[in-house]
Amino acid sequence: MEKIKIGVIGCGPCGMAVVSAFNEAKNKGQAIPQLTFFEKQDKVSGLWNLTWRTGIDEYGEPVHGSMYRYLWSNGPKECLEMANYTFDEHFKKPIPSFPPRIVLQDYLLGRFEKCSQTGHSILFNTAVRNVAETDGKFKICYEDLKTKQCSDDTFDYVIVATGHFSFPNLPYYPGIETFNGKVLHSHDFRNAAEFKDQTVVLLGSSYSAEDIALQCVKYGAKKCIISYRTNKMGYNWPDNIIEVPQIEKIENKLVFCKDGSTHEADAIIFCTGYKHHYPFMEEKLRLKDATNIYCPKHLYKGVVYEDNPKLMYLGAQDQCYTYTLFDIQACFVRDIILGKIDIPDRETMVKSIAGWYKRCMTITSPAEAINYQRDYLEDLLTDTDYCSKESNSKIAEMLNTWVGYKKENILTYRDKCFASPYTGAMAIPLTKDWFYCLDDSKESFLRGCQ
Ligand code: FAD
Ligand code: NAP
Repeated sequence: MEKIKIGVIGCGPCGMAVVSAFNEAKNKGQAIPQLTFFEKQDKVSGLWNLTWRTGIDEYGEPVHGSMYRYLWSNGPKECLEMANYTFDEHFKKPIPSFPPRIVLQDYLLGRFEKCSQTGHSILFNTAVRNVAETDGKFKICYEDLKTKQCSDDTFDYVIVATGHFSFPNLPYYPGIETFNGKVLHSHDFRNAAEFKDQTVVLLGSSYSAEDIALQCVKYGAKKCIISYRTNKMGYNWPDNIIEVPQIEKIENKLVFCKDGSTHEADAIIFCTGYKHHYPFMEEKLRLKDATNIYCPKHLYKGVVYEDNPKLMYLGAQDQCYTYTLFDIQACFVRDIILGKIDIPDRETMVKSIAGWYKRCMTITSPAEAINYQRDYLEDLLTDTDYCSKESNSKIAEMLNTWVGYKKENILTYRDKCFASPYTGAMAIPLTKDWFYCLDDSKESFLRGCQ
C-alpha cells in the first residue's frame, strides 16, 4: 500500500511537535506516513530564531521573526515543559523557571534532535505559495527562495503550522504622520537599548506592551507610557512606567489621550497584536477568523478544518499554554491521520465548535482563559496520549499562580520558582534579580546570571 503523504507548512515549535508526535508512534512500532516539511527560514524553531532583520528578508520575503534581543520567557518554563523530554533531561541539572529565548530554543532543538527518527524531509529556504484542493487531495506549490524555482507536489493531508504572530495589526491614529520620532510595530522591535534615555509610547495593553515597556526601562529608557484601548493592565509598575487611556491624536512630538492628558514622546511602538494571515491557502481552505483563545468558526477540536477534515491548523489560537498545547494538538492530529480518532459528521463538528465558542465568549479574566484552555486540552487528552490529565491540571494551577505573582510585582515575577509537572523537580532561583540580569546568554543563565 502506498504511504500516506503529509505536507507540513512551517517548522517552528508546532511543526517540530508534529515530528515528535509521529516519532512517538514509530517508537511504539506503528507504521507512520511520509512527512514533508516546507520551511521558509534556513533552520527549524520558528519565532525562536532571533533575526536582526526587519521588513523584508534577503529573498524579499516578509521577515517572520517577532522576537527581540533580551527576550525572556514570560511564563514559567514548567508550563511549557515537554512530557517526552524534560528540562532536567536536556540541561542535566535544575535551572531557573524563566529562561531567556536562547535557552528555550536550545531546549526545543534538543527535543527535536532526540525525537527526529521519522524519516521526514524538510525543505528549507522554501516558501509555500499556494495550497489547493484537487480530487480529494491537496496540491502544494512552493518556491525555493535561493533558486527562485517553483515546484509542486500532492499530499493526502496538509498541516498548517506557520504561526500567527508575524503579520502586524496596525491601526491608524490621526496625525501619526506628523510624529517627529521613530514609529514601529512590536514585530520590528529588536533591541531595547536603542531607546536609552528616551520616552516611549506603547499602544496596546497586552503581553508585548507589558514586556517591551519593561525591557525599555531595564535597558535605560527614561519613561514608558502605555496607552490602553479597553482595560489597563494595572500592574504595580515602577515609577517610570505609566498607563494612560487611548490616544486620540498625535501632533509632532505630542500625543493626546482621551482623558485630556498630553505627553511628549521620542518613539511610538504599536503593540497592537497580530493577524491570522494565510495568503498561500486557497480561499475555501483559508482560516480567516480573528485571533481568539478558541478559533470560532472553522476548527473542530481547535485543529481540524471543518470544511475539509484532511486539513489541520496547529497552534492557531491565542495561547495560555504554548509548547504543551502544540504537542497535544500534534498527537491528536497524528491519531486522526493514523485512523485512531474518528472525525464525526459535519453537524456534530459544528455543534462541538459552537459549544466551545459559546464558553469562550464568556471569558472575562486570565484565570477563566487558563482554565478554558486546560479543559480544551483535557478534551483532546481523552482521545490521545501525551501527558496525564493531572499534569495538564498542574500546568493550569501554575499558570494561575503565575498570574498572581505578576499582580503582586511585575518586576519580580520572573524571580519565582516552579516545579516540573512531570517529575516534581523544583527549579532553582536566579542568583540575581531578573531585572538586573542584563546578559541573556545561555552561559550566563546557566551560571545563574552572576
Ligand atoms: P512560529 O514559531 O511562528 O513558526 C512558524 C514557522 O512557519 C516559521 O519557521 C516560519 O518561517 C514558517 N513559515 C511561515 N510561513 C511559511 C510559508 N509560507 N512557507 C514555509 N514556511 C513558512 N511562547 C512561549 O511559550 N513563551 C514565550 O516566552 C513566548 N514569547 C513570545 C514572544 C513573542 C514576541 C511572540 C510573538 C511570541 C511568543 N511566544 C512565546 C509564542 C510563540 O508564538 C510560540 O512559542 C511559538 O513560536 C509558536 O510556534 P508556531 O510553530 O506556531 O509558529
Ligand atoms: P495581543 O495579546 O493580541 O494584544 C494586542 C493588544 O493590542 C491588546 O491590548 C489590544 O487591545 C490592542 N489593540 C488591538 N487593536 C487595537 C487598536 N485598533 N487600537 C488600540 N489597541 C489595539 O498581542 P501581543 O501583546 O503582541 O502578544 C502576542 C503574543 O506574543 C502572545 O502570545 C504573547 O505571549 C507573546 N509575547 C511574549 C513575550 C515574552 O515576554 N516572552 C513578549 C511579547 C509578546 P484590547 O485589549 O483593547 O483588545
